Amino acid sequence: MDKYSIETRCLQAGYKPGNGEPRQVPIIQSTTFKYDTSEDMGRLFDLETSGYFYTRLANPTNDHVAAKIADLEGGTAAILTSSGQAATFYSIFNIASCGDHVVCSATVYGGTYNLFAVTMKRMGIDFTFIAPDCTDEELEDAFKPNTKAVFGETIANPALVVFDIERFAKAAHAHGVPLIVDNTFATPILCRPFEFGADIVTHSTTKYMDGHAATVGGCVVDSGRFDWTKYPDKFPGLCTPDDSYHGVTYTQRFGLEGAYITKMTAQLMRDFGAIQSPQNAFYINLGLESLHLRMKRHSETGLRVANFLSSHEKVAWVKYPSLPQDPCYHKTKKYLPKGCCGVVSFGIKGGRKAAEAFMKGLKLAGIATHVADAKTCCLHPASSTHRQMSDDELRAAGVSPDLVRLSIGLEDADDIISDIRQALEQAQA
Ligand SMILES: *Cc1c(COP(=O)(O)O)cnc(C)c1O
Repeated sequence: MDKYSIETRCLQAGYKPGNGEPRQVPIIQSTTFKYDTSEDMGRLFDLETSGYFYTRLANPTNDHVAAKIADLEGGTAAILTSSGQAATFYSIFNIASCGDHVVCSATVYGGTYNLFAVTMKRMGIDFTFIAPDCTDEELEDAFKPNTKAVFGETIANPALVVFDIERFAKAAHAHGVPLIVDNTFATPILCRPFEFGADIVTHSTTKYMDGHAATVGGCVVDSGRFDWTKYPDKFPGLCTPDDSYHGVTYTQRFGLEGAYITKMTAQLMRDFGAIQSPQNAFYINLGLESLHLRMKRHSETGLRVANFLSSHEKVAWVKYPSLPQDPCYHKTKKYLPKGCCGVVSFGIKGGRKAAEAFMKGLKLAGIATHVADAKTCCLHPASSTHRQMSDDELRAAGVSPDLVRLSIGLEDADDIISDIRQALEQAQA
């Protein structure tokens, strides 16, 4: 649907009803699919024809919604997962095994950090975390002969550091590996990482895509551009026969545009089953239909709140990438010219205690371990999402102990600012 703008594609991409078919994406609430002959079904098991047989691997509702997200990102194929965590895990585990290594930006989401540094490390995959503003030498030194991917977040949650996608893509490609970008906070409305050289995009659809705090979900999108066949020794899973599917070689059978996601469906969904439910996929699609309107509003109000906080005497510092004084400002102009979402971090004079008093004083904004939905909410990461990290690890992840994260919703901007103003007045300076 390239000839239409992204706003139109939020509504029209993906599902294409035929004559007399439902206008809205149908929810195919069925675990299984019926066939006339065993031979028909056998061809599906051998990946000779495409179709559905069991919802642990794939479901038509999910695929309609995944096709819309693939279209919005400019990718060739996509898959929905049960959560953003599952999407992150799959994106790496699809191409890395025990004994492999991945380079990762140090400012990634706390859940991603834990998945990589603790859980996937137990599986024998090693991660090197590097500062997103590291020197060229540090970046070069991070790569090893067994490196299989580079990973970063377009806008880091909650550090709000903008990732230099083009720079990290070049470094990844120079070492023959793909760049994977978690585009959760930006969404394809604000940034499309493939346009800057990224190869694979992941999402927690739980955030802005759903947008209403209703549904946990994830998505992995492939650009179809990374040429695995140039490095068959690095990516044997994509370039050599899969014995569990009668010797199919994914790159040969499905081309660069389909190999990575088909392998993910055939192996990782089959074995781990972290599939999105069709009902939840339907909700995500409702969110996608207004994503373009909501991202514009979240970004506009986010900037207004950031400006208000910057000029408030009780505020020690504000982090919002669109502010001209922000260290990421030049990267924001390049990667996020349309805005940088509704998440704003700041520190209150008086540190941790004042931050807690501020949180207590809020009336409209709720305290929630969530961001990026329609209602304004607030979180103190050091005492919640990031509490498993030491102070040094917190600082390396760009999260100071006094950091308060606001997720600006779709309420009236003046109401949101009045609420923040009165809570600041109550906080002990
Ligand atoms: C929330 C989040 C995740 C994890 O997603 P879940 O849907 O909660 O599993 C991953 N990356 C980022 C940037 C997130 O904000």
